[in-house]
Amino acid sequence: MMKITDTLKQRWREASALVNQIDEERMKLLEPTEKRWHASLDALQLVNDQCQAHEHIRCEACQAPIFDGDHYLGGDTPLCEECAPPYQDLIDAPEFFVHGDGNPATPEQCREWFDAHIAAGGSPSDSMARPA
Ligand SMILES: [Zn+2]
Repeated sequence: MMKITDTLKQRWREASALVNQIDEERMKLLEPTEKRWHASLDALQLVNDQCQAHEHIRCEACQAPIFDGDHYLGGDTPLCEECAPPYQDLIDAPEFFVHGDGNPATPEQCREWFDAHIAAGGSPSDSMARPA
């Protein structure tokens, strides 16, 4: 009589073989882009090295360099203009916002910041990124 562990072993072998087979197929799909991919990585590394020569911070989400004068959202997790959330997020996701001292902001505080932006003529879809 076959033990249950024998069945499990057989199922594992089959599942594992399928993953390996599909892995090989996926590698073949990537092959045509291999050279360009490495060339683009090298080019990015070169620019990154050149960025290091300048005083800057990095966007926590996409790693883009943020230079003096660029618009961004500051704090413990700086976000570039493209990654910074819109003001509407203060209402939709207040749990993600903190005060300047790093303490979590209350939904009421977030509502105040949102209302102040709207009262100043802003729109809920405006990016929260500001000049450095
Ligand atoms: Zn970014």
